[in-house]
Amino acid sequence: MVTRNALLFLSRHEGLKDFATRFKPFKKMTTRFVAGETLDETVAAIRELNAHGCTASFDHLNESVTKVSETEEEVREYLRILAAIDESGIKSNVSIKLTQFGLDIDPELTYRNARTVVAEAERRGNFVRVDMEDSKVTQVTLDIFGRLRGEFGLDTVGIVVQSYLRRTHRDILELLKIPARIRLCKGAYNEPPEAAFPDKKDVDENYVRCMQVLLGSGTYHGIATHDERMIEATVAFAQKEGIGKQAFEFQMLYGVRRDLQLKLAREGYGMRVYVPYGKHWYPYFMRRLAERPANVWFVLKNMLKG
Ligand SMILES: Cc1cc2nc3c(=O)[nH]c(=O)nc-3n(C[C@H](O)[C@H](O)[C@H](O)COP(=O)(O)OP(=O)(O)OC[C@H]3O[C@@H](n4cnc5c(N)ncnc54)[C@H](O)[C@@H]3O)c2cc1C
Repeated sequence: MVTRNALLFLSRHEGLKDFATRFKPFKKMTTRFVAGETLDETVAAIRELNAHGCTASFDHLNESVTKVSETEEEVREYLRILAAIDESGIKSNVSIKLTQFGLDIDPELTYRNARTVVAEAERRGNFVRVDMEDSKVTQVTLDIFGRLRGEFGLDTVGIVVQSYLRRTHRDILELLKIPARIRLCKGAYNEPPEAAFPDKKDVDENYVRCMQVLLGSGTYHGIATHDERMIEATVAFAQKEGIGKQAFEFQMLYGVRRDLQLKLAREGYGMRVYVPYGKHWYPYFMRRLAERPANVWFVLKNMLKG
């Protein structure tokens, strides 16, 4: 827990970020979790995943943007991604973070930026998933999602919820009334105990409880986890309730439990891989290290090998 919190603290450390992004051996290690720096490299990585029966979700890495011009550049990048998906014929949707579109500057600007991307996805018959960030922005993220969902269809825009948050079960019940397509994950940020369950056992219990509500709702949702116990609970619940393998999808992160990704795809489950790319990989990469501190040793060992 101490290592996890320390790594999550460092994920927001600007000085270390500047150092790490310039330090070549560190940068090399990111290829485990990041598909590349360019759109073309990422299209190639997704083509490979598609060949193994997995779909994907594109993520351009650049969170907590603080300049309006940078948020506009993010919108343009997502329009390029949506065009590249169509031109290449790969099977992928896109995931966005609202802080990338200006949430730390102005919620209205964020809404307008996100709306531009969702409108383009609708025009192209694609889908935008709004990622969930830390609990300071949960409500505003849900509010902006609600506005977007009011204007666009169920199959055009969806949202993420985190089982570590105490509020999530209630949020799901509200979201299902709209209804909404939901990705359920455990949550990746450093949260205070008032907002999130401090014990992993409670996070996992809440995950199973929320998964059952989602699968029972009849809407197509994403069950995002690498935890075999969560996956087994999902498979068992779906079988017991007679819910088909294609009525929901499993989702995992690029570079994490590839064996399990391929196994589930071979068994006929929907399997979507979240594929991040871009130059601003530092906070994303540090959160992946925090999820499994053994990854830190993997990184250090490889850096020493040069
Ligand atoms: C598709 C997808 C989208 C996500 N979107 C969001 C989001 O919008 N907001 C958000 O807060 N979080 C998001 N996450 C991250 C998520 O919240 C968790 O931090 C992450 O998935 C780890 O939780 P877990 O369910 O795999 O379970 P854990 O209990 O953390 O891990 C279970 C097992 O999985 C393996 N594992 C997990 N992570 C790693 C890793 N990094 N490296 C190697 N092995 C690992 C290990 O074997 C570990 O024992 C997303 C995750 C996925 C898969």
